[in-house]
Amino acid sequence: MSLKDIKFQLHAIDSTGARRGSFTTEHGTVETPAFMPVGTAGFVRSTLPRDVEESGAEVLLANTYHLGLEERLATVKRMGGLHLFMGWNKTILTDSGGFQVFSLPDKEITDEGVWFSYNDKDKEKKEEKKKKDRMFLNPERSMEIQRDLGADIVMAFDECVEYPATREYVAKSSDRTTAWAKRCRDFELQSHQFLFGIVQGGVYPDLRRKSAEEITAITFDGFAIGGVSVGEGYELMKNVTKNTTPFLPFDKPRYLMGVGLPEDILEAVGSGIDMFDCVIPTRYARQGTLFTRLGKLRIMDKASRKEKYPIDTHCDCYTCRTYSQMVLRYLFFTRDPLAETLATIHNLTFYQDLMRDIRDAVEQGIYKSFKAKWLDKYHKQS
Ligand SMILES: [Zn+2]
Repeated sequence: MSLKDIKFQLHAIDSTGARRGSFTTEHGTVETPAFMPVGTAGFVRSTLPRDVEESGAEVLLANTYHLGLEERLATVKRMGGLHLFMGWNKTILTDSGGFQVFSLPDKEITDEGVWFSYNDKDKEKKEEKKKKDRMFLNPERSMEIQRDLGADIVMAFDECVEYPATREYVAKSSDRTTAWAKRCRDFELQSHQFLFGIVQGGVYPDLRRKSAEEITAITFDGFAIGGVSVGEGYELMKNVTKNTTPFLPFDKPRYLMGVGLPEDILEAVGSGIDMFDCVIPTRYARQGTLFTRLGKLRIMDKASRKEKYPIDTHCDCYTCRTYSQMVLRYLFFTRDPLAETLATIHNLTFYQDLMRDIRDAVEQGIYKSFKAKWLDKYHKQS
């Protein structure tokens, strides 16, 4: 049990089921529905934490898989934890490492835990390549790493099942996730840390229900729907979310892991989801794909070549206030790292603006019409 209470409050519930709430950690209050940008190895790539904060983000996600390597973890610990290491004084959530580990081709899963070889596309690969040793992650080790990282919210270690998977395998794996969830709960974290449980069950509604009932029987501070956004597609993801949320406690934050595109978020909020994270806004930005209220814009396309307007005339981010599309396109073509930074600032702001508009609409009880109008505008020119 955490010594503290996450103080999750529901301020408004729309007729669609969308919820407007907030929760509080040692590093501040997070308004929900919330979107968490992803700082893979702590930092949101090519972007200053100051700019991330300016986008309106109140909570960041960092990956245990990338931060848990011996050398890196030692550096974070020496700095006194992730907040000081990153220069980010707001809420941080760390994932359990499960999602990355289970997506590796070369792994060995037992009830005790999982053996794997670390794989990173980064330059730092060389640093780790020297170590031929296989690595091991289990509930206790994941909790130990996350305790040392010191994030405000810690995720239970679960088995994230790939898609497609047989019903038989998903059933067995979900049982393992329940057993692991209990082991995570038994682990003593830092007193300021909250622990969220993760529901699995693949695309099988009855297994999702069983997993939700088992996981919510354990005392957690919030609950996540895991095993989505693994290639199952929009319709299945929508159904899994819709079929799982009714079995999650009403009075705890609900987090849909790894989702997603604006349209996915809009759909899931209507199913009663409070938290999201995804690499899409930052990854797309670095590839030159920008989100706008009129759909996605590919800055390398000819259309932006002589465009004196910013990416989105309704956006108040530093990039849109300062630069036209033609200048940003120029920076991409000259391969200036500034291009990625400016594009990331915009996409992060776009996502936070979307969340703020969602929160306002839920508060006003007009979520359904807001969503329809938003999507209509967004899809018209895409
Ligand atoms: Zn902008």
